[in-house]
Amino acid sequence: MRESLPFSKEDVLRWNAQYPTPFYVYDEEGIRACVDALYKAFSWNKGFREYFAVKATPTPAILRILKEYGCGTDCASAAELIMSERTGIDGHRIMFSSNETRIEEYKEALRLGAIINLDDITQIAQLERAGQIPDTVCCRYNPGQFENTNGIMGHAYDSKFGMNFDQLKESYRILKEKGAKHFGIHSMVASCCLDNNYYPSLAEKLFEIAVELRNELDIEIEFIDLAGGIGIPYRPEEQPVDISAVGEGVRKAYEKIIEPAGLSISIFTEMGRYITGPYGYLVTKVIGEKHIYKDYVGVDATACNLMRPAIYGAYHNIRILGKENAPKTCKVDVVGSLCENNDKFAVDRELPEAEYGDYIVIEDAGAHGHSMGYNYNGKLRSAELLMHKDRSVSCIRRAQTLDDYFATLDIDKDF
Ligand SMILES: *Cc1c(COP(=O)(O)O)cnc(C)c1O
Repeated sequence: MRESLPFSKEDVLRWNAQYPTPFYVYDEEGIRACVDALYKAFSWNKGFREYFAVKATPTPAILRILKEYGCGTDCASAAELIMSERTGIDGHRIMFSSNETRIEEYKEALRLGAIINLDDITQIAQLERAGQIPDTVCCRYNPGQFENTNGIMGHAYDSKFGMNFDQLKESYRILKEKGAKHFGIHSMVASCCLDNNYYPSLAEKLFEIAVELRNELDIEIEFIDLAGGIGIPYRPEEQPVDISAVGEGVRKAYEKIIEPAGLSISIFTEMGRYITGPYGYLVTKVIGEKHIYKDYVGVDATACNLMRPAIYGAYHNIRILGKENAPKTCKVDVVGSLCENNDKFAVDRELPEAEYGDYIVIEDAGAHGHSMGYNYNGKLRSAELLMHKDRSVSCIRRAQTLDDYFATLDIDKDF
């Protein structure tokens, strides 16, 4: 959460005159500053590239902004690949980090010349079914359990992603035999991690593997992909990651392991949440209140617009516009209208008294927010707005209409 919002109630009133609530609004300047700081933190590494995890905020407008800074995309489906291509990002500027991949999707990735990141040793055969083994390939490592110097950071035993060390090594051996020439290692063993030491410890582990692969298989790892997993402070007591310290930490590991081994490796990241999470807001209106065994504030957004609280119990800071400094005299559940009792944006949250028509802003919704949306109860997905420096907005995705909702049905036909 942040100290104050980058927009005011007057701004929201102006936007709302044109776009009905609920809607998402993204702070362009915030995203730009964030990606700029990321590139500065890794400027010591010549080949550094952020492959933005498209699934976090899959909108061409945002991909185009990130492209200006040199970002590529991390894709996992045909739709994400095509969106990337249509925004002018293709070739090795796409990382295809998929799993349980369909042949058609590998074909798309091969057509675009993407770097293909294999989730499993069995995917070598699946990739061959789709076409051929490209010159450049990456393999995804799952260390089972991941520890940094401060202790255990993640149990990856029950994570479906990546392969164990023996399979990883065997994959590189087979891929080399089948003609691949350029290799990378990928690993993602955390989610929403606020520890500055996460990337550095992961990098250290992957750097050691790179040296081992060179010594034992005579293959040269050209890039290390630290993937996503860097968190953002959703809760008031949490502190943001210090990205320059993260970059420095990875640099230290590089100087300790990679330089003495005479290797040269590009560092890649696939952040999603860190880049857009704090800069997206779900704006919704109070449309009801209810006082039974508990007190409720009803809003016009639902879990269909932002499902993180419903599925993960995720915390999102909530502000009532114009009442930012009012005393928090009420303890309420902030709820949507789905016929599902987990349709709550907050439970037992202390807030100022909400009144009919108040605007409620749900913060830190910029990543894995709108993109996880769905249509349960026939609820429509909202518009997404991009707020520019002068606080004007562009509609970067219109709201769904009832016609969109009914488009896949043959509603008048008697089967
Ligand atoms: C989801 C995902 C990311 C992005 O994760 P964030 O936590 O949003 O940074 C990156 N890489 C892969 C392979 C993913 O599945």
